[in-house]
Amino acid sequence: MLVTKSTTKKNSQSALSQSVQYLKGVGPKRCEIFGRLGIHTIHDMLYYFPRDYRDCTKIQKISEAEIGSEITIQGKVSGINSRRSRNRMHILEVFVDDETDTIAATWFNQPFLASKFHVGDNVFLHGKVGAYKYLQLLSPEYEIVPGDEAAIKEGSIIPIYPLTEHISQTYFRKIMKDAVHHFANQIEETLPEEIIKKNCLVSINTAVKDIQFPKTFECLKNAKSRLVYDELFTLEMAMALRKRCIKDEMGISFKAGPNVDTHIRKLIPFTLTDAQERVINEIKEDMRSNKPMNRLLQGDVGSGKTAVAIYAILVAIANGYQSAFMAPTELLAEQHFQTIQKYLCHSHVRIQLLTGDTSSKRKKDTLRQITDGQVDLVVGTHALIEESVQFKRLGLVVIDEQHKFGVIQRLKLKEKGLSPDVLIMTATPIPRTLSLTLFGDLDISILDEMPPGRSPIKTLWIPNGKENEAYEFIKSEMAHGRQAFIVYPLVEESKVIDLKAAVTEAKRLQKDIFPTLRIGLLHGQMKSAEKDKVMLDFKEKRYDILVSTVIIEVGIDVPNATVMVVEHAERFGLSQLHQLRGRIGRGSEQSYCLLFGNPKTYESSERLKIMTKTNDGFKIAEMDFRLRGPGEFFGTRQHGLPELRISDLVRDFPVLKQARKDAFEIVSKDPHLKSKIHAKTRKKVLEIFKDRLELINIG
Ligand code: ADP
Ligand code: MG
Repeated sequence: MLVTKSTTKKNSQSALSQSVQYLKGVGPKRCEIFGRLGIHTIHDMLYYFPRDYRDCTKIQKISEAEIGSEITIQGKVSGINSRRSRNRMHILEVFVDDETDTIAATWFNQPFLASKFHVGDNVFLHGKVGAYKYLQLLSPEYEIVPGDEAAIKEGSIIPIYPLTEHISQTYFRKIMKDAVHHFANQIEETLPEEIIKKNCLVSINTAVKDIQFPKTFECLKNAKSRLVYDELFTLEMAMALRKRCIKDEMGISFKAGPNVDTHIRKLIPFTLTDAQERVINEIKEDMRSNKPMNRLLQGDVGSGKTAVAIYAILVAIANGYQSAFMAPTELLAEQHFQTIQKYLCHSHVRIQLLTGDTSSKRKKDTLRQITDGQVDLVVGTHALIEESVQFKRLGLVVIDEQHKFGVIQRLKLKEKGLSPDVLIMTATPIPRTLSLTLFGDLDISILDEMPPGRSPIKTLWIPNGKENEAYEFIKSEMAHGRQAFIVYPLVEESKVIDLKAAVTEAKRLQKDIFPTLRIGLLHGQMKSAEKDKVMLDFKEKRYDILVSTVIIEVGIDVPNATVMVVEHAERFGLSQLHQLRGRIGRGSEQSYCLLFGNPKTYESSERLKIMTKTNDGFKIAEMDFRLRGPGEFFGTRQHGLPELRISDLVRDFPVLKQARKDAFEIVSKDPHLKSKIHAKTRKKVLEIFKDRLELINIG
């Protein structure tokens, strides 16, 4: 990176956008290391926050150390003893003196630590006091500090940064001090004054200074509050603007009066649940309005989303518009197609299936019918978003299992109509925390009630050694004519190994455990047509047990299957386990989910515990989110959120709600942030979100 140190610009923002190399003590080499930490500009530097702080406000004397209590001490290394005990354990003792006494910092089996300490080093130690032959700190937190800094005054709070080996805390602190000193005051305030006042926030300059070098813990707290609010406000502002953009479009005003309603209800073979009624009303409201609907329908597996979707589809069709229904896989598209056909067999609705498997002749005909308006409803996969699909009058788009499609695909299908209404359905319950942010531009409806007549699934954890009892239980279920799934995790990325595991296991089960039962096999290397055939055979009871190494397609309906066995359940994520469990419990019989496995980590045993305790998808999602954090929640970073540096969506949920309220209020008064008092906010939001959220209209 080439930097001309001479071109200091007066403009403060461009000063902040200069390379860190502009700072004293940062040469090209260090600059490169900084780059790896994501620090390129001075602005990046100022926003590189400590991961922790060392509390030197209460450094204690060694002589005051009480056995059993926690203390922080500062002293000099006076001796190092690195040895092996008789039972081959490695013991490292680092003796540290202050002017009052000596204490030994002791580590077991970490011989590599020995080389870090030298006699004469100044160190800070924090840990629990014990006693052996002498006073001890067992595996304390430690920091070795060079001479000049050991003179840190009592009463200070020292930032500790997340750094790599090549940069020392001391060096980094020095550079940061310099950066804060010269540039913190140049950071522009982007929050409107009214917001700052209302939320009692400190200024951005104070916040950055105090997050880096707080004088007191009170200052630190205020700095954090300000920065957390700031981050979440910016996020929610982007959401508010995006929602505004959508609402700016003119949509279709569908008519959905009592006539249409009576008609539709005749086609639905059951009484809708209260939740379905409520959600249908929300959807009708949207569809009647002249603004495009952009709604997310969340509902656990089996909560009856399809019926709701059909209601919306029929409203569109009754108004002379076409509908498109997109599912994530061929099999699901096929299943939806059949289900919907069944619902609609007594109507005049013309419905077609369009997937990658559709033969080219058939496809050509279907495409023509779509273009000519001879089809009312097309059910399909992402084949629906191909260029060649041209609707005559697309009025409603329904997307199932939203998170498998990106935002982009969502938009592409939507663009095939003139601002059609969009209904997105997901069976992956998304914690409220996330849906507010991730889908902040959508309205949300929740189906939180199951159709009547289902008994909740019983979930049991089967530890190693208890498998045989479980197998006996499965046999007794089979004897009553039920069916079972047995799922294995993907052993590795490798499909070959995956195949072997499935084949071997299916053989073993057939030979040793279930010699009289019919076992089907589903694995990752099968073509989708083969998979579909096996699934169909299972559904039609040509197998008793289905052994599978692939996640059985979401949404597959086999009401006679009452047992779900998950082998090595500890290797599955919570939402995967919940999805798998959702394959059973679809009939009126009692169903059982048996989780085999021996969890070795805290997280994996928590997951199994949660599964045995609740069937509530939302609770599970919230726990999953807590265990894994938002980044991993969706597997990849494709969710399009920028990284949150300081806030935590779960921990800071109350702040998120406030920030959201504030942002939406501002946007409702000043829809495009045209007012001068919002100019800086607007600039910041666009800088961060323009490429992520298609904030087209306010660019
Ligand atoms: P989801 O798509 O949310 O997983 P479905 O729409 O597939 O759920 O519904 C699951 C099952 O429940 C289907 O067999 C459906 O016919 C049935 N069902 C849906 N709503 C009701 C209801 N109100 N009363 C009785 N059965 C219902
Ligand atoms: Mg479904």
